[in-house]
Amino acid sequence: MKPVIGITSSIAKDESWHRVTDLNVKAITEAGGVPAILPNISEVKMIQQMADIIDGLLGTGGYDIDPLLYGEEPHQKLGTVTPARDHFEEIIFKEMLQRNKPILAICRGMQMLNVVAGGDMYQDIYAQIDQPNMLQHSQQAPYQYGVHFVHIEKNSLLFQMTETEKIKVNSNHHQAVRNVPSSFKISGKTSDGIIEAIESKEHYFVLGLQWHPEHMASAGDQVSKKIFRSFLQACQI
Ligand code: MN
Repeated sequence: MKPVIGITSSIAKDESWHRVTDLNVKAITEAGGVPAILPNISEVKMIQQMADIIDGLLGTGGYDIDPLLYGEEPHQKLGTVTPARDHFEEIIFKEMLQRNKPILAICRGMQMLNVVAGGDMYQDIYAQIDQPNMLQHSQQAPYQYGVHFVHIEKNSLLFQMTETEKIKVNSNHHQAVRNVPSSFKISGKTSDGIIEAIESKEHYFVLGLQWHPEHMASAGDQVSKKIFRSFLQACQI
């Protein structure tokens, strides 16, 4: 049996639809998993049952996270917030961590993972970080192309996959992880100091990436493909 991978979904601002980029589905099927798109339901017991059923969780990208989740009021540069998705993901991430089941969390997914684990965020990196050499993190090139580098910690799960200390990644975010909880470590950063990869020190495979490997994998990027394959391998154990 192939592992079943729950894939988180976006919900419309008016909550009239759920949506997942097909690249996320393809990245899972190509890496050997059975994709299961998870709707943003509110019933806690049902969400717990989802966590029982799935072998791994792919946290996908999407809208901004409600800053109230980490104790802040909305900054004027905060974008669209979807409380239904925030509520669902708070629970599914927590339940997966409790079960020590693998998580690969991308972009918003990484930020939610960090917040659920006790970290916090920049609501808008350009407004809240005083850094003259800030990079452009909302790229103007198509997303299958990498635009900035990420410097990877050698002693990390991520390095085991990349086997190199510097990779080029795409970038489509205006928020970022600020403080990482003590149960996590930073495994990748950009030259302007933005945290682009985190991983749990206490779980078997819990990895957050600020970029979108599903776009790069679709264009044949070997590092991105290896990230998905490694995730699926972890889900088989
Ligand atoms: Mn970036």
